[in-house]
Amino acid sequence: MLLSDPPLESWRQLPAAQQPIWPDPDELAAVRSQLTALPPLVVPEECDVLRQRLAEVARGRAFLLQGGDCAETFADATVDRIRSKIKILLQMAVVLTYGASVPVVKVGRLAGQYAKPRSRDVEVVDGVELPSYRGDAVNSIERTLAARVPDPRRLLEAYHRAAMTLNLIRAHATGGFADLRKVHAWNSDFVRRSPAGERYESIATDIDRALRFMEACGFDLENSEVAHQVELYASHEALLLDYESALTRYDTERRAYYDLSAHMVWIGERTRDVGGAHIEFARYIANPIGVKLGPTTTPETAVALVEKLDPERRPGRLTFITRMGAGRIRDVLPPIVEKVTAAGAEVIWSCDPMHGNTIESSGGLKTRHFDDIVEEVMGFFEVHQALGTIPGGLHVELTGEDVTECLGGADDIADADLADRYETACDPRLNAGQSLELAFLAASMLQD
Ligand code: PEP
Ligand code: MN
Repeated sequence: MLLSDPPLESWRQLPAAQQPIWPDPDELAAVRSQLTALPPLVVPEECDVLRQRLAEVARGRAFLLQGGDCAETFADATVDRIRSKIKILLQMAVVLTYGASVPVVKVGRLAGQYAKPRSRDVEVVDGVELPSYRGDAVNSIERTLAARVPDPRRLLEAYHRAAMTLNLIRAHATGGFADLRKVHAWNSDFVRRSPAGERYESIATDIDRALRFMEACGFDLENSEVAHQVELYASHEALLLDYESALTRYDTERRAYYDLSAHMVWIGERTRDVGGAHIEFARYIANPIGVKLGPTTTPETAVALVEKLDPERRPGRLTFITRMGAGRIRDVLPPIVEKVTAAGAEVIWSCDPMHGNTIESSGGLKTRHFDDIVEEVMGFFEVHQALGTIPGGLHVELTGEDVTECLGGADDIADADLADRYETACDPRLNAGQSLELAFLAASMLQD
C-alpha cells in the first residue's frame, strides 16, 4: 500500500479546516514516514467488533457511553490518571446498564485525544498575542511564543503515549480491575459518601439485590468471565489528517481501509463540512465514525452527511453526537432526527450535553453548570421518546479526579470554587462525583 493511494490522499484536494501550520514541511514528511512504518495501535478485527456492538446500539439493544478528557495531555498519561478515568467509566457503565437494562458499549475519549480545534487562532496573554494551544500533538500549553510553534515530532510522541495508554486500557479491561462486584462496591461507597447519596440509594440497592439474585441462581460472579472482564474501546477526534492518514492501513482480507489510530474516530463540529477534507477522509475508512452536530445543523446537512458516510445504511457505522445546548435541543433536534430517519439511516443518536452549554465564569474560566448538562440529557430523551426514535448514548467530558471545573452537582461547586482545582488543558470536565451523578440521573431517565 502506498501513501499515494487515492483513498488516503483524496482529502488533500479539499479544504482542511483547523490544520496546524507546521513550520518545516520536510520535518512533517519525515515524521509521517516514520508513522507509516510503525505498527498500528488497534487492529481491524476490533474495529469490526465495535461496529457490531454499535449496530446493537442503533437498534436499541445496547447503550453507548463515550467519555474522557476534552484534551488528553502527555503529562497526564500516568497509570494513576488513566486508571481513574477507566474506573469512572466502568462505574458509570454499571449504573447505565442497570438503568437501560441492556449492555453498555464503553468507548473512552482516550489514547489519542491529543489534538484540539480552536475557535480562535490566537490568544492574548499579558498583552502578547500567542498562537492558540492546539493539543499536545501539535504544540505546548505553556504560554510562550516558542512553546506554541507546532512541532511535528509531537505526532510521534502522541503515537507512543497512545500506545502506552492502550496497553493500560487493555490490562485494566481484562486483568480483574473491571470486576462487576468491585465496581458496584465503588458505586455503593459513592452513594454512602455523597451529599446527594439518598437520591441514588434506591438504584444502588436494586443493583445490589440483582447481583445477589444472580448469585443465588447459581451464577458464579467470582469466576465468570462476563462479570470479570469488559470490552473498552478507544476513540478520539480525527482532526490532524496528516496523523490519521499515516496510521490508516489497507486490510487485504476485508478489502477496506482502517484508521488504526483508534477503534472509533469522530469528526468535530468545526470540521464536519460536507465538502471538506475531514468528511472526505472519513468516507474511506471502515471504522465506526462519529460526527458532532451543533445547533446550526440543518436536517439537509445531516442527511448529506449520511449519504457521504453511510450510503449503504449500515447500522453501527455512523453516530451522530448532538451537542445543541440545553435551551435549544427540544427545538433543533426533532427535524434533524425526522429527516435522517425518513432517509432510511439507522444512525446512533448520542447526546453530548457538554459543548452546547459552555459559559464563562466571573473569573474568566470556561465552565458548564451541572444542571444545564442534566437538562440537555433530559431534552434528548424527551425528543426521542416523542419521535419514537432511539436515544442511543451519552458523550461526556470527564475525569476521574476531584477537579472543580463544572459548576453544581452534589458538592454544589460555586463560581468562587472553580479556581481550587481547575486543571483542564481545554474544556471543563465533570469530576468523578458529577460523572457518577449524571449516570444515576440518566439511568433513572432510561428506566422511565
Ligand atoms: C470536543 O469534543 O472536545 C469538541 C471540540 O467538540 P465539538 O466539535 O462538538 O465542538
Ligand atoms: Mn471539548
